[in-house]
Amino acid sequence: METSTIPSLFTPPTLAITPSPPLPPFKVLIIGASYAGLSTALNLQDLCAGLPPRSGPSPPTTTTTTTTTPPLPIPIEITLLDERDGFYHVIGSPLALADETYAAKAWVKYDDVAALRSPAIRHLHGSVTSVDMGRKVASFAAVRGGGGGETVEVGYDYLVAASGLRRVWPVVPQARRRKEYLFEVEEHVAGVVGGGIGAVGVEMAAELKMVQPQLKVTMVHSRDKLLSSEPLPEEVKDRALELLREAGVEVRMSTRLEGTEEAVDEEGKPCTKVTFANGETMLADRVIMAVSRSVPSTTHLPSAVLDGEGYVRIHANLTMPTDAPHTKDHFAVGDIAQWSGIKRCGTAMHMGYLAAHNIHQLMQQRVKNVEPEFVKLDEVPPMIGLAVGKKAVAYWPEGGMTSGADVLKNFFGDDLGFSICWNYLRLGGEKPVV
Ligand SMILES: Cc1cc2nc3c(=O)[nH]c(=O)nc-3n(C[C@H](O)[C@H](O)[C@H](O)COP(=O)(O)OP(=O)(O)OC[C@H]3O[C@@H](n4cnc5c(N)ncnc54)[C@H](O)[C@@H]3O)c2cc1C
Repeated sequence: METSTIPSLFTPPTLAITPSPPLPPFKVLIIGASYAGLSTALNLQDLCAGLPPRSGPSPPTTTTTTTTTPPLPIPIEITLLDERDGFYHVIGSPLALADETYAAKAWVKYDDVAALRSPAIRHLHGSVTSVDMGRKVASFAAVRGGGGGETVEVGYDYLVAASGLRRVWPVVPQARRRKEYLFEVEEHVAGVVGGGIGAVGVEMAAELKMVQPQLKVTMVHSRDKLLSSEPLPEEVKDRALELLREAGVEVRMSTRLEGTEEAVDEEGKPCTKVTFANGETMLADRVIMAVSRSVPSTTHLPSAVLDGEGYVRIHANLTMPTDAPHTKDHFAVGDIAQWSGIKRCGTAMHMGYLAAHNIHQLMQQRVKNVEPEFVKLDEVPPMIGLAVGKKAVAYWPEGGMTSGADVLKNFFGDDLGFSICWNYLRLGGEKPVV
């Protein structure tokens, strides 16, 4: 396998065992360009341009012994590295898998994201295979038109790990290019669903029933409560079940799937025979298993910064733990980070803003010799917003539980939150999606 370095306006990676202290233009490498990674990149770009960050308050003006100065522009080179060729709205997956028109909207190639058309930001398409925190160099398998596999090294001054969770099909599409994704989704939506579990299974079953009401959708759950593994009040779990049944989904609680086998229905059409632990059987055109646990995409990171489940251990200022080299220049944001609360995109984007703020502080320390003032991530209590067809149920500690069509509108708009996220990060530049 060939190894090469990235040419062009970016400085080639340093090969020194101990890299020199970073100097501007600062090179920032962000692994994963989804909610957390994009939030980090765009907020950092704002701050380094001397502008208010788009997702939070501006840092206070800095004071040295003799002067008080507002933030000055700082030259940066941000590299966003992702396995996908575009921003994919993960939250919209249950609808994208049921509705081809929506699917086309839910994946926007990075080249078409106006906010990324900036001389300070570039996107590389590839899968990161290792990170050498001592040398400050990441290796990735490049995805190129007509092939790939070439291993490329990219050096950095600051690294932000934002590679989220590995989710299996059909929780999210597995394609790495928009074109292939549209084929993948087309094949899926032509089928009919069988069983599912958890928040994703609930949303998937409800969206499928809403988009294709003629389908008989049955959801099977082994426990006596939905969302059984989430630390949420019982009333939220009960309301989710009511909404799912209201949406026309047949729900079988306390039912364990024993196995599936190929069969034919009474019209001689191929289908799947599903057998449950109590001996009952049913025929389904399509069985969707939404039971697999998602795992953090962190195999490229040194084990010293990971917990037993593969999540990155972080400090409240989002830097990695001190058991590895240069950890004050290494950050982790979004689902990949080990932190309290249910994994949510709002938290991921907020963490991106906090990391951007703290990296900007480190840069200012370097160029202006001022003490950095870090912002910290608070503990996150359990909260959830769950879309169930034409309604939603939401819970957060101060507000308690709410549900209904208005909750769907408030939490998800008309497109399962696509426009809310797109506009919040101003991905369309100054032009919002409405
Ligand atoms: C079906 C579904 C519904 C959801 N609904 C909601 C909801 O209603 N509300 C809510 O708040 N949250 C919801 N979530 C959770 C939400 O999607 C996550 O919290 C959010 O995606 C986390 O964002 P992230 O940027 O940390 O990671 P991700 O969105 O997982 O993005 C990680 C990125 O890293 C890339 N990547 C991974 N490994 C590598 C590698 N080795 N090299 C290069 N790139 C890599 C991936 O391609 C991806 O683009 C839902 C999740 C699912 C699956």
